[in-house]
Amino acid sequence: MDSSVSRDAGITRDAGITMEKIVSLAKRRGFVFQSSEIYGGQSGAWDYGPMGIELKNRIQRFWWKEMTQLHDDIVGLDAAILMHPRVWEASGHVENFTDPLVDCKKCKQRFRADQIDQAKLAKKECPECGGELTDTRKFNLMFKTNIGPVDDGTGLIYLRPETAQGIYVNYKNILQSNRMKLPFGIAQVGKAFRNEIVTKNFIFRTCEFEQMEMQYFVKPGEDEKFFDYWRGQRWAYYEKLGVRMDKLRWHQHGKDELAHYAKDAYDIEYEFPMGFKELEGVHNRSNYDLTRHQEFSGKDLQYIDQDNGNERYIPFIVETSAGLTRQLLMVLCDAYEEQKVGDKGNEDDWRTVLHFHPELAPVTVAVLPLMKKDGLAELAQDIRQGLKQEFSTDYDQGGAIGRRYRRQDEVGTPFCVTVDYQTKEDGTVTVRFRDSMEQIRVKREELELTLKKAIKEYKRV
Ligand code: ATP
Repeated sequence: MDSSVSRDAGITRDAGITMEKIVSLAKRRGFVFQSSEIYGGQSGAWDYGPMGIELKNRIQRFWWKEMTQLHDDIVGLDAAILMHPRVWEASGHVENFTDPLVDCKKCKQRFRADQIDQAKLAKKECPECGGELTDTRKFNLMFKTNIGPVDDGTGLIYLRPETAQGIYVNYKNILQSNRMKLPFGIAQVGKAFRNEIVTKNFIFRTCEFEQMEMQYFVKPGEDEKFFDYWRGQRWAYYEKLGVRMDKLRWHQHGKDELAHYAKDAYDIEYEFPMGFKELEGVHNRSNYDLTRHQEFSGKDLQYIDQDNGNERYIPFIVETSAGLTRQLLMVLCDAYEEQKVGDKGNEDDWRTVLHFHPELAPVTVAVLPLMKKDGLAELAQDIRQGLKQEFSTDYDQGGAIGRRYRRQDEVGTPFCVTVDYQTKEDGTVTVRFRDSMEQIRVKREELELTLKKAIKEYKRV
């Protein structure tokens, strides 16, 4: 089967993959589309197609399981996107969530002052056309809108720029309703909105995105211990996710980068095609957040430590803050490979393969009849039906079997099950493994167990 496949696999081309290739594959195979494309596109926004939504949901589930199911002291929350405007005053976003901006008076382009040539900025010279730049001014990144029937400014409301504040304002509710004791954490996944001026690099930086955040509440003095603990946990998560660990590194925030309230902060960075960039942050936020919300709301947010003589204090917070959509981009880039699999001297010698962890792959198993005729299609459909309860499946009967394998490789399907004439005779099928392209024959009754075992034991080669 698939006799065109040569075993000199292992040769890859394009060690340096480009963002163009990722964008093109993402569109071609239904992972990510430009928002409102038929109207020329909406910058800063992207739509997730049939493959993209499956991948995004699976990454989210992987993170959720890691943070809640595998950590007894973390519970979940889904807070509203629209929050009381005072929240954003207390959090400091109204005052400080700004980017420094300059405009060119000649070509009218807008730049982030901290991202252009600083010598040119000092001379007020446009980096694009040499025209004169305006003075630098602060630009707030929060989207404003209006709630209620009249648009006279009294109904000002913001689209949340992060999910974290929804957690802080529910801290007391969760403490009481779920009888939590310190230390404990609250996890949340949801949309966030930022009026980013420079939205490039595909879905890396967008105006609408999703975050996966966990806020861990601890006794003051224990914050450094838990900060180290969470750094370790978050690093281990990426190992489980099956990404290439040599592409990850830590970046500690220097004094000039550290937010005014933060005691310490590290980013996990990934080497994207455009270089090392932030993937997620682990921050020691001190007791800033709850102190501010106590001050602005007038509500007592102290923790009463019943195990220590009813001592009262405002907890410190260790935060792990990851971008879901940014992680999806990382997973796509990390999985992508162009691999030599034949020697005919043409394009068929190469396959594009996405080495997703099987738990992340949009389709887990594709069932392919060798031929449409002689009852093979019906038999394959029946086998697919039997797998559906346990796995996400696909069925493809169109074209040469080698082509069909390639199509599945390109969307990262880890297993293909091929149904042929022998299946009719002895009830066995072929299981083809995406990464090694190895094929084994198994009995139909053993298929489910074989696949489950392979998923459990999966290791990226
Ligand atoms: P950056 O410095 O890249 O603007 P940040 O330090 O402001 O990011 P945080 O506020 O710490 O980011 O947000 C936590 C995570 O949310 C980031 O690590 C990133 O994964 C994600 N994120 C932040 N802004 C965006 C965005 N505009 N588009 C997509 N993901 C984002």
